[in-house]
Amino acid sequence: MFKRILIANRGEIALRIIRACRELGVESVCVHSQADAGGTWLEQADRTVCIGPGPSKDSYLRIDRIIAAAELTHADAIHPGYGFLSENSHFAVVVRDSGFTFIGPSPEAMNLLGDKVNCKRMAKQSGTPIFPGTDGGIEDLEEAVKVAAEIGYPVIVKAAGGGGGRGMRIARDEAELRAGVDSARQEAAAAFGNPMVYVEKYLEQARHFEVQVIGDNHGNSIHLYERDCSSQRRHQKLIEEAPAPGVDPAKRDRVCASAAALIRNAKYCGAATCEFLMDKDQNFYMLEVNTRVQVEHPISEAITGVDIVQTGIRVAAGEKLPYRQEDIRINGHAIEFRINAEDPDRNFMPQAGLVETWAPPGGPGIRMDSHVRAGYRVPPNYDSMVGKLIVHAPDRATCIQRSLGALKEFKVGPIKTTIPLHMRLLREPQFVNATHDIKYVERLLAAK
Ligand code: ADP
Repeated sequence: MFKRILIANRGEIALRIIRACRELGVESVCVHSQADAGGTWLEQADRTVCIGPGPSKDSYLRIDRIIAAAELTHADAIHPGYGFLSENSHFAVVVRDSGFTFIGPSPEAMNLLGDKVNCKRMAKQSGTPIFPGTDGGIEDLEEAVKVAAEIGYPVIVKAAGGGGGRGMRIARDEAELRAGVDSARQEAAAAFGNPMVYVEKYLEQARHFEVQVIGDNHGNSIHLYERDCSSQRRHQKLIEEAPAPGVDPAKRDRVCASAAALIRNAKYCGAATCEFLMDKDQNFYMLEVNTRVQVEHPISEAITGVDIVQTGIRVAAGEKLPYRQEDIRINGHAIEFRINAEDPDRNFMPQAGLVETWAPPGGPGIRMDSHVRAGYRVPPNYDSMVGKLIVHAPDRATCIQRSLGALKEFKVGPIKTTIPLHMRLLREPQFVNATHDIKYVERLLAAK
């Protein structure tokens, strides 16, 4: 096991990793920006190092300063958390070449699964269901037109190096496809430095289904079942739940096993998520693989009892996965609510500033992952998520009831948060009956 882990992140996920380190008997070093000086989570770390000014590009994204901090504090491993440098394979290379262990996949595995065209090819070989579409990147436009005619419109043009919902174009006929390929290529070249685009079938109505997987460096991988993250606004997840409601158990087992096979074939070490869209007939189509621990990992921890962050550290240290697939069972239902410092009544305007009141809920089945307490000042520089409320109960109906109570107890002020929106969504018949899809939140917000 490591002696000292440097955490290259902030806020709730830094705190989550500090807690895991403590239980493993590992010291933690937390780097931070000037804007985060005095951050509540830093009190919990064994050491802290300031690495630069508030803007991420001058601190949390500065590879040179993070490596210098690791050298200075004699850390032996670096945990990237999520966001920031977590999916940057160059960072993973520099960490390794500087003599530290990167807590996550090798840069090779990251590149294999992080590039969408490579990943699709690999998925096909592993029996992971993918969207029908072009086999690789588009070499010539006529080939794309031919493939689109075969699979039928609408189709979507996507960037191999894409992320954050950019570089995508929906085409409903041939003319739109011809125009879309060109503009998507230009956007992809500018945004990701890689002009390669591909075409796949576009699903009009779908649910977001993602499989939590974890692998080690000894050729083992398992899945921890799935999460449904269909409650989204602008591709940002608001509510996640595990397991996905109403999915046929045999279909679920098959797709989850295929995701575990995919990361095994990529020689992947650590936690990852295979994202899928699911159509109304419960067919699955892989979207992408996230090569890091995800924001919503706690709901998978709740229903399986596996500590994903600790397990990720153990396998990075060279241990074998302490579970076999047969050991993993689903226990009850869990829902996570992202508490964002945003005003849902004013177009989700970010709410930086002093938190005077912070009174999170308690009681059976309630877990709160947050770095915030009364007196904390939300800096304007970073993501608006200030906490995650995770509710666990024996079944989905009880979980929804328990969540309504917990959200009612939860008092935050004067900054506005997404709490009232969550309460509204929990009462929506579409959500309650699990007939919702990835567009339902936006439809509701548009209708008011
Ligand atoms: P990014 O890495 O940019 O987030 P994804 O491949 O995860 O890209 O796609 C982002 C979102 O775009 C998905 O969550 C989904 O809402 C939509 N999307 C992507 N591909 C398709 C598709 N083939 N059919 C329907 N929607 C899609």
